[in-house]
Amino acid sequence: MMSDVKPDGRYSERLLMGPGPSNVSARVREAIARPLLGHLDPDFLSLMSEIQELLRQVFLTSNRLTLPVSGTGSAGMEAALVNFLEPDDSVLVGVHGVFGQRMAEVARRCRARVEVVEAPFGQPLDLDELRSAARKSNPRVVAVVHAETSTGVLTPLEPVRRICDETGSLLLVDAVTSLAGLPLRIDDWGLDIAYSGTQKCLSCPPGLAPLTVSQRAAERLANRKSRVQSWYLDLSMVQNYWGSERTYHHTAPISMNYALLAALQEAVEEGLEERWRRHERNHLALVAGIEAMGLRMYVQPKFRLWSLNTVTIPEGVDDERVRARLLRDFNLEIGGGLGSLKGRVWRVGLMGESSRMRNVLYFLHGLERALAAEGFHCPPGGGVQAAATS
Ligand code: PLP
Repeated sequence: MMSDVKPDGRYSERLLMGPGPSNVSARVREAIARPLLGHLDPDFLSLMSEIQELLRQVFLTSNRLTLPVSGTGSAGMEAALVNFLEPDDSVLVGVHGVFGQRMAEVARRCRARVEVVEAPFGQPLDLDELRSAARKSNPRVVAVVHAETSTGVLTPLEPVRRICDETGSLLLVDAVTSLAGLPLRIDDWGLDIAYSGTQKCLSCPPGLAPLTVSQRAAERLANRKSRVQSWYLDLSMVQNYWGSERTYHHTAPISMNYALLAALQEAVEEGLEERWRRHERNHLALVAGIEAMGLRMYVQPKFRLWSLNTVTIPEGVDDERVRARLLRDFNLEIGGGLGSLKGRVWRVGLMGESSRMRNVLYFLHGLERALAAEGFHCPPGGGVQAAATS
C-alpha cells in the first residue's frame, strides 16, 4: 500500500504535478496554523480588506466586487452563473473540455436557455463559430474557460470580448487554472465576471474561489427581476459581508483566508509578470524534455497552457501503471486524462509552487524510468538534458 505517512509517523511531501492542487509553500502552511479569530473580529475584517486588495492586484482589476467565495472552484463557477443568469436568459457556452461542460450544466440548472459551441477535446474553440452563434442568439452572457484543465487548451479572451461587444453580452470567464500562472488581465481585456480556485497557480489549499465582477455586471445584478436561486452564493448578500457594511452572512473559513492572504502576498512579492514568465519558462523546458524523449505534446503550440501540459501516452504504454510508479517510486503525482482523453494523455501540472525547474527535471527523469519499465526506451538522460539546456 502506498502511503504518505513515513515510518516515524510524519508526513512526506508529495510532489504535486497533477491538475491541482499544487504544492504549497511553508509560509502558506504556517499561515493556516495561525490562531483563529472570529469572522467579525476587527483584525479579521482588516485581513479581509488586505485579501481583496491583493486579489485586485492579481486579477489586474479595480473592480470593487472582488472577493473569495467560500468553496472550491466549482462554487466560484456556480456563483458566477447563478448571479448573472435568470430563468429564460440566453447564455452561450464554449465547450472544449470537462469544465466547459460543467458550466453548461450549471447554466441549465439556472433554467437559462443554454446554447453550446463545441470543439473536440484538445482543440481550441472555433471563434468564427462562436461569433455566428452569438449573432444568432444575442446571449445575455457568453461563458468560456480560459484554461481548460481537462485538455491543456487556452482560449484567447480578447477575441471573445470583441464578439461580446457586438452582441452586448457579458463575458464570463473560468480562470481557475490561469490566475497567477498565465496572463489574465481583467480590466484591460474587459472581462465582466471571472472566478478562480486557490489550489492551482496561487498554490494555496483548495477551499476558496476568488471572484471578480465588473461595474457593468454588478449593475445587472442589482437590477435582477428574480431572486438568485442560491441563498449561500447570492452575491448581493455576500457582498454585504465583504463590502463596507461587514454584515454577517456566513462564517468565513478563517484559516483558509489566512492561507490565501499568504499565497497572495507571495504572488505579489514575486511580481505577477515574473511569475507568468516562470510558468512559461518551466513549461517550455518541459516541452523540450518531452520531445527529446520521443514523446509528443497533445495540444498545438499556440494554444498550450503553461500551467497544465497534456502529453500523449505512447502506444503500448499503460497509463495507470506509469502514474502508479511515479507515485510509488518518486512520490510524484501527475494526472490522467478526463472524459474522452482518459487513457490517452497525461496531465502534468506546473502550477504555482510546483512550477520549478528542479521539478521539471525530476519528473522527466522519473518518467524516463517509468517508461523504461513499460518497455519504452528513450535516449538516456535525453529529456533532462534538453530541458536543462532549453
Ligand atoms: N474549472 C476548472 C478549469 C478547473 O480546472 C476546475 C478544477 O480542477 C474547476 C473549474 C472546479 O474546481 P474545484 O474542483 O476546485 O471545484
